[in-house]
Amino acid sequence: MRSDDSCIFCKIVQSKVPASIVLQNKATVAFLDINPIATGHLLVIPVEHCSTITDIAPEAMARLAGELPRLSQVVLEASGAVALNLICNSGKEAGQEVPHLHFHLIPRYTDDQRILRTNRMGSDDESRERMCQKMVDVLVREGSD
Ligand code: 5GP
Ligand code: ZN
Repeated sequence: MRSDDSCIFCKIVQSKVPASIVLQNKATVAFLDINPIATGHLLVIPVEHCSTITDIAPEAMARLAGELPRLSQVVLEASGAVALNLICNSGKEAGQEVPHLHFHLIPRYTDDQRILRTNRMGSDDESRERMCQKMVDVLVREGSD
């Protein structure tokens, strides 16, 4: 199983660093964020060290993803929130500070203003179609169906 001695989340997986762990199984660990955006902010990580969303094996991701519905329900019930954001910052430029893939489950309340809506840039049919074709080309090149 891949692990990184310098990784704080690997240390949490190995109980070398304490954390408030809500769920731990062979593939996935869920624990409370030490500096939460809202009370009940949960982090969900793969046990195996991988840095970003493109670095995880599909099977490991499937197991982690399979935990998200019930962990979301747990966050909602325990926090009393009415909604939540599921966020993954993948890569430094996207805001990732801990280089072990993780998913934020962030409780939300009516008008809580905790996360502001991101800026949108609009698009036209032609540029969307061009980008769509580029993406399809990459998929075909990678041999995906
Ligand atoms: P990122 O910006 O990488 O998407 O988010 C990293 C998250 O990990 C942050 O929300 C931060 O508060 C949390 N975090 C960083 N170090 C620790 C730690 O040692 N323990 C816990 N529980 N959370 C941490
Ligand atoms: Zn790690």
